[in-house]
Amino acid sequence: MNRLNIVDPEIAHWLEKELVREITTIELIASENFVYPSVLEAQGSVLTNKYAEGYPGRRYHGGCEYIDPIESIGIERAKKLFGAEHANIQPHSGVNANLAAFMALLNPGDTIMGMNLQHGGHLSHGSRVSIVGRFYNAVDYGVSRETELIDYDEVESIAKKHRPKLIIAGASAYSRIIDFKAFRDIADSVGAYFMVDMAHIAGLVAAGLHPSPVPYADIVTSTTTKTMRGARGGIILCKEKYAEKVDKAIFPGIQGGPILPNLMAKAVTFKIAMTEQFREYQGRVIKNARRMAENLARNGFRIVSGGTDNHLMLVDLRPIGITGQQAEELLQKVGITVNKNMIPYDTTSPAITSGIRIGVAAVTSRGFMEEDIDKVAEIIIKLLKNANGGADLDEYRERVLALCRKHPLYLEPFEMGGMLD
Ligand SMILES: *Cc1c(COP(=O)(O)O)cnc(C)c1O
Repeated sequence: MNRLNIVDPEIAHWLEKELVREITTIELIASENFVYPSVLEAQGSVLTNKYAEGYPGRRYHGGCEYIDPIESIGIERAKKLFGAEHANIQPHSGVNANLAAFMALLNPGDTIMGMNLQHGGHLSHGSRVSIVGRFYNAVDYGVSRETELIDYDEVESIAKKHRPKLIIAGASAYSRIIDFKAFRDIADSVGAYFMVDMAHIAGLVAAGLHPSPVPYADIVTSTTTKTMRGARGGIILCKEKYAEKVDKAIFPGIQGGPILPNLMAKAVTFKIAMTEQFREYQGRVIKNARRMAENLARNGFRIVSGGTDNHLMLVDLRPIGITGQQAEELLQKVGITVNKNMIPYDTTSPAITSGIRIGVAAVTSRGFMEEDIDKVAEIIIKLLKNANGGADLDEYRERVLALCRKHPLYLEPFEMGGMLD
């Protein structure tokens, strides 16, 4: 059949709209990023035609002679990149990687302990609305009310009280370095397994800009999106002694055949992540995040925990008198995308929230430097401080477009500039 715009113009229309939206807006959602053209190419490849249940050399379908080297190369790269003993690159997503890790180590009804969702944790670490909270007995730890940091003494006392079989570290909205060794010691003191979900910070870990959990955790899960800036999907890294259990938990445990275009794109992602350019990129991400936090803090916004060590920050909007929901809507009107987010000990609801989460990995991918971050911060500050009218939205929209034009993204469909410097 023919090209998408001929076969299905209705869907092609919305694809083009989305492409234009990505080009012409400032993307500050902390879990998003813009992948490299090579990753996009891999994900759109003919590997989508193939089935390959099983693992290299042990397949349940024929014709895998070219799939096997692709997966083996991807596995070797993941192990090398993160210094892991074993890697499984088949998880369809970050949540699936977590489900398989749980299946490998736990039985239904076992007690697990993860970070509280409202303090920055992830749904799949035990929330009642997730299958994880239904299958396992989940208890949680949070951040200290005073410092808004993980309080390791409190984590220890909760662990001693509930005696979980598994302790999970890792978060979706925590802007500080996580002390994996402290978690390991606590897990050892109660005889628990220790798992780290590094979905948000994997790119920083790969670049050596956040301490690695791999030496400390029994199992490490991650997405290859977010700061990894790569394929849509998940990975599991583990000690050799869990390798067989982990592989069996993914297939046949919770998945059928891997999504091969994505699996191939993960292999490409790991290759790119070993380059000096990638390390430099991650360094710019951290600089840009600090610059954003400094700008906001200097102008009356409160940064949860007082700052950031990674690619994101939580911004408490109470000092300027608006809600997260209002801020998200107002910023959207001028082409800046953020998400409203609960802050620790928030007294509003998840639909309203007192804060927003800001991440800079995506804008850094399109080339934003600290001086550009200053300009983005200025727009956010002025707009949100005049939330109750008075701001000329058209003028701010123009400023956003000027920054987008300065750092072009996908120029034409499948023709991109500025992506690898
Ligand atoms: C994003 C995220 C996930 C989920 O990844 P999906 O690919 O959306 O399933 C899991 N854990 C953490 C900590 C995350 O931030």
